[in-house]
Amino acid sequence: MGPDEIRDRLVAMQDEDLPVRGGRTLAYVYDSGLSEVDALAREAVAAYAGSNGLDPTAFPSLLAMENDLVAFARDLVDGPDSMVGTITSGGTESCLLAVQGARDAHPEITDPSMVVPETVHAAFHKAAHYFGVRAVVVPVGPDHRADAAAMAAAIDQTTVLVVASAPSYAHGVVDPVTEIAAAAAERGVRCHVDACIGGWVLPYAARLGREVAPWTFAVEGVTSISTDLHKYAYAPKGASLLLHRTPALRRPQYFAHAGWPGYTMLNATLQSTRSGGPVAGAWATVQALGHDGYLDLTRQALDATDRIAAGIAALDGLTLLAAPDSTLVAAFADGPLDVFTVCDEMAERDWFVQPQLSYDDQPPSLHLAVSAATDPDAFLAALQDSVAASIAAGPVPVDIGVVDLLQTLDAATLGDDEFDILLAAGGLATGGELGLPERMAPVNALLDAAPPALREAVLVAFLDRLARPTTG
Ligand SMILES: *Cc1c(COP(=O)(O)O)cnc(C)c1O
Repeated sequence: MGPDEIRDRLVAMQDEDLPVRGGRTLAYVYDSGLSEVDALAREAVAAYAGSNGLDPTAFPSLLAMENDLVAFARDLVDGPDSMVGTITSGGTESCLLAVQGARDAHPEITDPSMVVPETVHAAFHKAAHYFGVRAVVVPVGPDHRADAAAMAAAIDQTTVLVVASAPSYAHGVVDPVTEIAAAAAERGVRCHVDACIGGWVLPYAARLGREVAPWTFAVEGVTSISTDLHKYAYAPKGASLLLHRTPALRRPQYFAHAGWPGYTMLNATLQSTRSGGPVAGAWATVQALGHDGYLDLTRQALDATDRIAAGIAALDGLTLLAAPDSTLVAAFADGPLDVFTVCDEMAERDWFVQPQLSYDDQPPSLHLAVSAATDPDAFLAALQDSVAASIAAGPVPVDIGVVDLLQTLDAATLGDDEFDILLAAGGLATGGELGLPERMAPVNALLDAAPPALREAVLVAFLDRLARPTTG
């Protein structure tokens, strides 16, 4: 393929994706609306895409940029002079490392566990799975915030970490970090604050005079904080920060290995070779925006969030799950309305909103991560139309036979035959061809009727079938 054809193909393939710019994609991507800053960041990514953060003595530029970014973040999280940090590839890696470091700080605890609120990000369950740290999941209160007393009571001899969110992804509310961190500190246990999505918003919200519950290193007992550059720092994908109160707390995260014939491997993160691209992209973005830029962007995003939350509260058919503490909005149906159909109707109008399946006694919901570039009036107009269209469309029919089948299937032993039936029932396979249907509501309704373990099994099997080498 020649260069022109390759460029054309890249553009054509990307056309199938959700738009990254425009503020109409309310999950996965975060848009500042500042095209010049984006262009600058992409230049930086391109210029450093081949550089390798594996060895800071070979690529001192990347170490310098990392140290600059950590210093900038220190202002945001009330970091003490002793605070240190590491750039990771994303929020999940930051959370994984917080768990790994906490585990390895206590080699004498042979059955390590961590106390987490049930609203904690799934990244911590991934960490539990990867690192053999048992997750002790504590129910949240009726306000969806972590129950500090219940979490304190759940700490025992095996606890190596306690986690709070600022805010939680699904509900967008900040946990009572002061009480949780105090309980952890009293027992000599580390306390991680997952501010992956709020870390670049809440500090500016406070500077704008909004009420923000304490969540930073100003809170005694907080030992580490994760904050994503590729979310509300509006940096290109692949950058997050894991910040520790002291170098000693970070130390177990570092890995060195000299016992092989090659170079002595010395890694600060899960990755060894680390592309310089995301580091340079984040550095360029943060330099270009600065605190003043972020203050403006946060004002825009929070104003848009306020407008959207008020609009939803006033809208017949939807109710807010909680009053937003930052830029996240979640809403559920309060009448005969299918929220999955609302997602489809929004997609028809070129808006992407994220469906959240029912959980425990909580109904399915819509989730929005509002960006500075999101136009709240245009959003609300589309939402109003979408809700009206969804009510008119009525409930999504789910095959009773399939629902019965779901109750009998064992997630651990899901076979190919049963999977084929499920795929067909969900509209994920037509005529033997695997693919996403035009409308996702039937798929979501089907998944929603399944218990969580079965949802996982079905989605894993689906991904497994999607991810196969190109044929023909
Ligand atoms: C996004 C997010 C994560 C995971 O981050 P990724 O960058 O998607 O890996 C973890 N915790 C919270 C609260 C988040 O919002």
